Amino acid sequence: MTTTPKRSLLAGLPPLGIWGLSAGLVVLLVGLTAFQLHAGYLRTVRVASANLADTARVTEEQVRGSLRVVRLMLRAIAEAPRNEPGPLRRFMATRTKIVPEIRQAFIVNAQGIVTVSTLPQVEGRDTGGRAFFTAARDLPPGRDIHVNKPLPIGIDGALVIMVSMPLTDAEGQFDGIVAVSLELGYFQHLLQSVHTGEPGAGALLVTPDGDIVGRDPEPELYVGKNIAKGGAFAMHREAGSAANTFVHVTLTDGKEKVSAARTLTEPAMPPLVVIVGRPLDGVLAPWRAEAMLVAAVVGVLAIAIFGLTGLAGRHLVALTASEERYRGLIETQNDLVVRLTLDEHLAFANEAFARAHGQDSSAIIGQSWRAFVHEDDHAATAQAITDVLRPPGFRAAVENRMKMVAGLRWVSWEGAAIRDMAGRIVEVQAVGRDITEWVEHRERQSALLRDLDTSNRELEQFAYIASHDLREPLRMITSYLGLLERRYTALLDEDGRQFLDFARDGAKRMDLMVLDLLEFSRVGRVRDPLATVALADVIAAALDNLRMPIEESGATLSIPADLPTITGSGGELVRLFQNLIGNAVKYRHPDRPPVITVSAQRGDRVWVCAVADNGIGIAPEYFERIFDIFQRLHSRNEYEGTGIGLALCRKIVEHHGGRIWVESEPGKGSCFRFTLVGGAA
Ligand code: ADP
Repeated sequence: MTTTPKRSLLAGLPPLGIWGLSAGLVVLLVGLTAFQLHAGYLRTVRVASANLADTARVTEEQVRGSLRVVRLMLRAIAEAPRNEPGPLRRFMATRTKIVPEIRQAFIVNAQGIVTVSTLPQVEGRDTGGRAFFTAARDLPPGRDIHVNKPLPIGIDGALVIMVSMPLTDAEGQFDGIVAVSLELGYFQHLLQSVHTGEPGAGALLVTPDGDIVGRDPEPELYVGKNIAKGGAFAMHREAGSAANTFVHVTLTDGKEKVSAARTLTEPAMPPLVVIVGRPLDGVLAPWRAEAMLVAAVVGVLAIAIFGLTGLAGRHLVALTASEERYRGLIETQNDLVVRLTLDEHLAFANEAFARAHGQDSSAIIGQSWRAFVHEDDHAATAQAITDVLRPPGFRAAVENRMKMVAGLRWVSWEGAAIRDMAGRIVEVQAVGRDITEWVEHRERQSALLRDLDTSNRELEQFAYIASHDLREPLRMITSYLGLLERRYTALLDEDGRQFLDFARDGAKRMDLMVLDLLEFSRVGRVRDPLATVALADVIAAALDNLRMPIEESGATLSIPADLPTITGSGGELVRLFQNLIGNAVKYRHPDRPPVITVSAQRGDRVWVCAVADNGIGIAPEYFERIFDIFQRLHSRNEYEGTGIGLALCRKIVEHHGGRIWVESEPGKGSCFRFTLVGGAA
């Protein structure tokens, strides 16, 4: 159970904060991806370097093997007896046939003069100044062959590699050299075998001085060049160890490469260097493809994050604005607004509530609602809260007295259940309005109504008793007037007899009026249970009572056949129709016999009945007055009557829950309409 209003996690952040959060997320994503890609880059280069190192090792092995073959051959020649040139030349020719790439083998004496050669035309030449001679002569101890950089020889000027070995005489002194010239192809085919065909990839064989002895591909462009000053060769030299790998810019084609270099480390042989390399572009191609894909995915993710942030931001702004509006509305309105936790404590109270109770909103939160409600109203309020929590309505209303600063005030509350996102009821919200004035007014009004009812009953009682008791002395007056007439008429003169007539007439009229008044006071007083009455029967009974005047006047009556049944008092309804039809006959036009039409029409939930005539009619200014008691428009000489008939009609109609009114045009006729409730057609 929470006592503070719930807010979403995002709703707590300002829009800028959300953007910051998203930007941070994107930066983190990009950072992690960059780190991952960099690691991938390093791994790719490392794997390529290791593969190249293996290739370099294999190539170095092959070069070593090939050089061993040449060395063995040179050693065999060196050990052959040199005193007879003919057999030596032949021996040399047979031996060199083993290696087809050998152009010639020759022996140079200690002075540098070629003494024996498989190509006799070169015998006698002086090679004392040539590098293959001097280098072989000056070999460091333990080394016995020299591989020279490629040199052009012969008339075709083709490049050959001279491999030379020093000779010693019987005393172990330098006695010249034995050498072979190798065609480039000798090492070239070894380099070719390691080359994969990838564009930009290549293998190099370099002398310790940096002269390229072999290269694949395009040997013709590179063989013979010196690369001592840069590239993988120089880096390899600087590194000092026998095997190294590098990422570097090549001297030969200026491209970035991954290379592995390896020095041939057999003591007797020259430290030739094998270099194999692949272009960095080629090495990185698979990594690049993967990196592009990852970058695309990260890009899409970043766009999605920013897009969603934009949406969330807009939503948040709208949410905050709506929340502000809601708060403003709740805070500024005069109605009391509270929210209750399920254990009956206040979780929220608006300004109006706090003000009315003279406390701070913050002080009110956490208190029980019972502290604010009059003890006599605790039960009703608790019941309303229980009703709010009960299906299906989840709503309830209650009126209770609140202990406010201004004293006890009546408040009308409407409560509703508040649910969380999962649909569980978490709080009860109630809105209350101070109805103290209205309640006081309502109480005053019901007191007035009670008083009115009492006085009405007393009045009716009075009218009944008065009219009932008045008849007694009236009867006495009438009977004594009769006695006077019978006994003393002879004693009276003409005037006396006329006075006696007037007195009798007055007493008779008074009796009629008292009778009418009695009847008037009876309507609604005797509380008969209302019954279902057929209007056709009611009208038939009324016409029966009026048979004489109708016949005398020669009136024509029109009564519909399909009259409804009504809920009401049969006797009162007979009286109602009898009065109206009787008046229609009585107030007929002197020039025409009366035509009277009775009708009943279905109205909005009521029957509208009408009694219309073609009589003398009524001026509009009397439309209201004629329904008051004892109100007449004519003198007794013109038309008989007491002026109580229509007042009685109104009382009967109102007793049946309806109303009565007249429509008329003087000289043409009148139509009395009234409504009656209920019943079927
Ligand atoms: P009364 O008929 O005894 O005078 P009512 O209360 O019945 O008393 O009628 C009041 C007055 O309304 C009558 O005096 C008469 O002037 C007028 N009145 C009633 N019914 C009609 C009618 N059908 N046509 C013209 N005037 C009427």
